[in-house]
Order: sequence, then C-alpha cells, then structure tokens
Amino acid sequence: MDAEKLKQIKTQLLEEEKRLTQELGQFADRSTHNTDDFNAKFPQFGDKYDENASEVATYSDELGTEHTLEKELRDVTDALKKIEDGKYGICKYCHKPIDEKRLLARPASSACISCKKQLTQEI
Ligand SMILES: [Zn+2]
Repeated sequence: MDAEKLKQIKTQLLEEEKRLTQELGQFADRSTHNTDDFNAKFPQFGDKYDENASEVATYSDELGTEHTLEKELRDVTDALKKIEDGKYGICKYCHKPIDEKRLLARPASSACISCKKQLTQEI
C-alpha cells in the first residue's frame, strides 16, 4: 500500500476514533485503568417506581450500545497501532494482505474477505 493511501486511512481512523469516543462519552465514563474500557453511567431520572423502571431500561440499552461502540473503538485503535508498527493491512487469520478496496471502505478491517466469510458462515 502506498504512503498516500495509508495516510488517508490513518486520517479516517483518527476521525472514527474521535467520533466513537465522543459517542461513548455521552453516557459512559472512561475507565481509569484501561483507556479502551468504558462504563455506562447509571441514569438518574427520579425516585418514583416508573422512573426507576425507565432507569433500568435505559441502562440496559446503554450497556448494549456501549458494548458495540467499545468493540468498534478497539478495532480502530488496533488498526492505528498496526499502522505505527508497519503491520497494517495484513489479515489476522491467514496473514495475507487484505484487499485495498476493502481497507479503504472499512479501514478498521482486520481480516480479509475470505476469512471473514468463513467466520460468519461458522456462526
Ligand atoms: Zn485472511
């Protein structure tokens, strides 16, 4: 992959990292031990029974969202780390280069299309 494309991908990844961190920050606190880990804040609507019930419902929604965003964020930071290490664009399963078009469309990809296909068929 040429330096120009890599630079473009890095910019995309950094923007993605910023967006995900901001989204997570709206309802979760970043863990002090592990910067990749966020903990959803328990919402406070009030002390009435129905308010408590909505708090629990909101909290469980947040946990789901938190999990998804955290995973995306981890993929993005992993990809950025790989760029730093000069190992970006290599499939983590078969260790072959990932198709450039795929990387440009989804810069945080860590597996090539054929490995990804195999994985999703197994699930
Ligand atoms: Zn592969």
